[in-house]
Amino acid sequence: MDHSATTPVDSRAFRAMEPYLTEEYGNPSSIHRMGQAARNGVETAREQVARLINASPEEIIFTSGGTESDNLAILGLMETMPSRGQHIITSAVEHHAVLDVFTYLERKGYEVTILPVNKYGTVEPETLERAMKPNTVLVSIMHANNEIGTIQPIKELAAIAHKGGAVFHTDAVQTVGRIPVDVKDLGVDMLSCSSHKLYGPKGVGCLYIKKGTRLARRLYGGSQERKLRSGTENVPGIVGFGAAAEIAAEVMSESMERLNELGRNLSDSLQRLIPDTILTGDPVNRIPGHVSLCFKYVEGESILLMLDQMGIMASSGSACTSGSLDPSHVLLAIGLPQEIAHGSVRLSLGRCNTQEDVDYVVQILPGIIERLRAMSPMTGEGGM
Ligand SMILES: *Cc1c(COP(=O)(O)O)cnc(C)c1O
Repeated sequence: MDHSATTPVDSRAFRAMEPYLTEEYGNPSSIHRMGQAARNGVETAREQVARLINASPEEIIFTSGGTESDNLAILGLMETMPSRGQHIITSAVEHHAVLDVFTYLERKGYEVTILPVNKYGTVEPETLERAMKPNTVLVSIMHANNEIGTIQPIKELAAIAHKGGAVFHTDAVQTVGRIPVDVKDLGVDMLSCSSHKLYGPKGVGCLYIKKGTRLARRLYGGSQERKLRSGTENVPGIVGFGAAAEIAAEVMSESMERLNELGRNLSDSLQRLIPDTILTGDPVNRIPGHVSLCFKYVEGESILLMLDQMGIMASSGSACTSGSLDPSHVLLAIGLPQEIAHGSVRLSLGRCNTQEDVDYVVQILPGIIERLRAMSPMTGEGGM
């Protein structure tokens, strides 16, 4: 129940990759037959990925994943401009692959605005409208949040950015392959995507770059990927990504419907059975099957350990590093107090989960919370 962290490789995608690890191991830049077979594999995958997001194949640059795509989009664009006098905007709930790039750019002298979100984690269009300045050159806002599942109004946000003359990028790692993503309908200039979040292999992803958007390279070397991403292509990975993208398009509507229902069942049951539970993120406008909750008076990590002992794999927004408790920036951004943010658990359902899995969690989790609360110094007299 941790599909927002990663997904298994679909067996059909795995089978599509296999020949490129064995007999078709050519370098796509080679002139000979085996090189051309690898080239065909890469170009077929480019068409498959492009089709999934309604882009043209020439607009897809393969990378090593979501993190690299985010870095390439933001740093690659900023590299084409002078480093002084530029204003760039992002949101408080971004993945670190975006947020940390903005922190870096701020240190380099760029003017940075980090937009607040409402209690559901949504960037309200008016908030962006007010933050736009004559020198705003880039707006980067994620399509859906990995921790709380909230889907952003990207179409409206992109339109506001464009009205002010800025380029719009979105990190769509959590949505591509899960819900319909159409780059033309959204009106975005750049969009990041990762294979391992959509039942493809790890270590591969892509950046969609709308025709006419100019980027500078981040890697120097060969002329692969229109000189924007030097280095011999990860052919088996790219082929697996392409196959996974095609499968995602085929199963999407059925999968969305099923996951929406399973997620709703799980979320409603847990909120009914466990007192002092808060659903985080937008209750309706969220990733199908994404359930994020905060249980008051308990630590997320303790819950995860006890769930793991029972064979349930989930994750928590709060990260406990070397004894210092560091609650999630996303949960703090939606206005949760630290002590509540510490009790967060994310259950993200995927294609292989069933109603039985949901029933099992509903059977196990209330008891775990009850036991932890009984031991907690935060409950009862003098507690919260
Ligand atoms: C997983 C994730 C990433 C990072 O993608 P990788 O392919 O693992 O580098 C970036 N953004 C979001 C929203 C993610 O969920």
